[in-house]
Amino acid sequence: MLPVATGPSSFEGSGKVTGETLLKIREDLGECTRCKLHKTRNKIVFGDGSAKAQLVFVGEGPGADEDAQGLPFVGRAGKLLTQMIEAMGLQRGDVYICNVVKCRPPGNRQPEKDEVDACSPYLFRQLDALQPKAIVCLGATAAQTLLQTNRSISQFRGQWLDFRGFKMMPTYHPAYLLRNPAAKSDVWKDLQKVMAELGLEVKRNKAK
Ligand code: URA
Repeated sequence: MLPVATGPSSFEGSGKVTGETLLKIREDLGECTRCKLHKTRNKIVFGDGSAKAQLVFVGEGPGADEDAQGLPFVGRAGKLLTQMIEAMGLQRGDVYICNVVKCRPPGNRQPEKDEVDACSPYLFRQLDALQPKAIVCLGATAAQTLLQTNRSISQFRGQWLDFRGFKMMPTYHPAYLLRNPAAKSDVWKDLQKVMAELGLEVKRNKAK
């Protein structure tokens, strides 16, 4: 397990803020009104899981269930994500789960650029605080935000990429898998690469 960041913040040459805690970041976020999503949200969905997690999943933004409960990935796509995590030999409580935007876009539309620009600094601070061994980006919005690209996720899915010194694996979003179950085998291949990186036993079964 990685040590939990404690003590005063300091800047490394990489531009990362170290010594931050998730609690401090949540406090800084407050009852956020930095973008228009605050007008229609019920609950801010900050993130959930272990502060010592070696593996972080990043999604796009809360849906209706998440907005109601204040927790990420608790709806249909979340149930599939839980199955994927368990197929890796982990429990949800072993990992950390968060999103690019922390408030629900109305009607589950994609977050707009100004919303991503307002919210993503908090995501980046969460990732710096967590110092994970691997980040899995679920879907195009997460992968494009971390990579600062407009390229289609199908062009780079399944490849280890660098996000500010962290190993990042882009894969398809569980909501996409609910619409396109045939893509589950691709995602399972990507997750097996993550399991190998984390030293987890790579099994032959796959998320159903
Ligand atoms: N989809 C996401 O991208 N994030 C959630 O938290 C739920 C659904």
